[in-house]
Amino acid sequence: MDQVRVRFAPSPTGALHIGGVRTALFNYLFAKKHNGTFILRIEDTDQTRFVEGAEEYIKSSLEWCGIEPEESPWNGGEYGPYRQSERKEIYQQYVQKLLDDGNAYYAFDTPEELDAMRERLKEAGVATPQYNAAARMTMKNSLTLSADEVKAKMDAGEPYVIRFKIDPKEEVRLNDIIRGWVHVHGSTLDDKVLMKSDGLPTYHLANIVDDHLMKITHVIRGEEWLPSAPLHVLLYKYLGFEETMPKFAHLPLILKPDGNGKLSKRAADKAGFPIFPLNWNDPETGDLSEGFKEAGYLPDALINFLSFLGWNPGTEQEIFSKEELVEAFSLEKVNKAGTKFDIDKIKWFNQQYLKNKDASEFAANIQSDLKAQFGIECSDEDAAAIFHLLKERVTFPQEIAPNALYLFQNPTEYDEKVASKKWDKEAEKAVTLYADALNAKDTISPEEAKELFFGLMEENGIKAGKNMQALRMTITGAGSGPDLMEIISIMGGKAVHDRIKYSINQLK
Ligand code: GLU
Repeated sequence: MDQVRVRFAPSPTGALHIGGVRTALFNYLFAKKHNGTFILRIEDTDQTRFVEGAEEYIKSSLEWCGIEPEESPWNGGEYGPYRQSERKEIYQQYVQKLLDDGNAYYAFDTPEELDAMRERLKEAGVATPQYNAAARMTMKNSLTLSADEVKAKMDAGEPYVIRFKIDPKEEVRLNDIIRGWVHVHGSTLDDKVLMKSDGLPTYHLANIVDDHLMKITHVIRGEEWLPSAPLHVLLYKYLGFEETMPKFAHLPLILKPDGNGKLSKRAADKAGFPIFPLNWNDPETGDLSEGFKEAGYLPDALINFLSFLGWNPGTEQEIFSKEELVEAFSLEKVNKAGTKFDIDKIKWFNQQYLKNKDASEFAANIQSDLKAQFGIECSDEDAAAIFHLLKERVTFPQEIAPNALYLFQNPTEYDEKVASKKWDKEAEKAVTLYADALNAKDTISPEEAKELFFGLMEENGIKAGKNMQALRMTITGAGSGPDLMEIISIMGGKAVHDRIKYSINQLK
């Protein structure tokens, strides 16, 4: 295989959708797997759809996800510029070649004339009217007008586009890595516009020219581009790029959670989950959409989850580091069928990653959440211990602070079952003995706290195990929860003493 070069080619028309992140990821994994190059190209030739801030958003999203390109508008590369709007002159010569070879032509039709043509065809029973071999001869273009008429129109500054002249006898065959053979007749294709009246190329032309010049070996993109692929194959052919035409791989659609249609922002909003990697402030509507990042998803969990949207390793393993994904990934293992977006699954991935994390990444946030939301001060050391205590019990890091309040605040209620079944004279004696022994021990490790309790119970002939739940209830109010000895250690002996005394009173 040639030196692998793949590209992610988003258009800056809004926030990067999670499906776009999946496309970027599969390109990235494929490139890394083959020691190739992952390129990012901004496809911004449609000025009418340009959205302020979208390019910056794409950049920050990929940075956050850890799938950064080696060549891009931001870090350059040998094949730049990487923004199509900066490559305007480059496309000119290619469209000229198509014109010179008789594979493209000028068209002067107004939007009204185009509509009228479609109406005419519809009335004649054509289901999907197209500007094709038959229709083109009824329209205002350089095939139907004389050279003088064409020149006169141009001299008069009449707007025109350049269209691709597709031979209806063409038979297009392409072997998609994921879908297998795709076979299309030229007669079903439209004479697509290649150059717009503003002098900028359309996506189709710019995409082919750039993939060729940037030496792209594999085009990995979403299924929505499959219908354009035959047209692209013909462009490669007529531009004389056939020899080095990239291989195609069209990734399966990402479906709504119920499998009913393509996942959309609306569907995600309705089901209450994000669709964009980062917060997105829509400059047009002023709406703020919460991103996966801000909702508490960890980038490695998101990447692991996205890798399974359409791909699977063929084994039972689900947790994959990025390095393992690179190792295991292959386009041959990507399926054709659409894949459901299962929000519970990504939550599960988040939990799996969160519980294996180190406190250092999260302690500072726990501290600031406690302070900002509850006015609670907490030391670095306690914040780290709180992370260890609770990380397996939450899905998102921001759930930790609100779940840690009992470490700082007296209970407002007590577990009814424990209070009625386990709270008796003996339990009261057990916790009182323990509270008194703890009073002098401001700092205490979980091990010491445990030894102290068991030792004390043994000395006094009380069964420790039997009174454990009562002890927990007097400290936290609850009948169950995370490691009690860790809780005691975080609170400190004196605070636990005061807490138990308070609860004994409340339980009277
Ligand atoms: N600019 C296209 C998009 O926005 C790129 C499609 C392709 O990868 O060819 O998705």
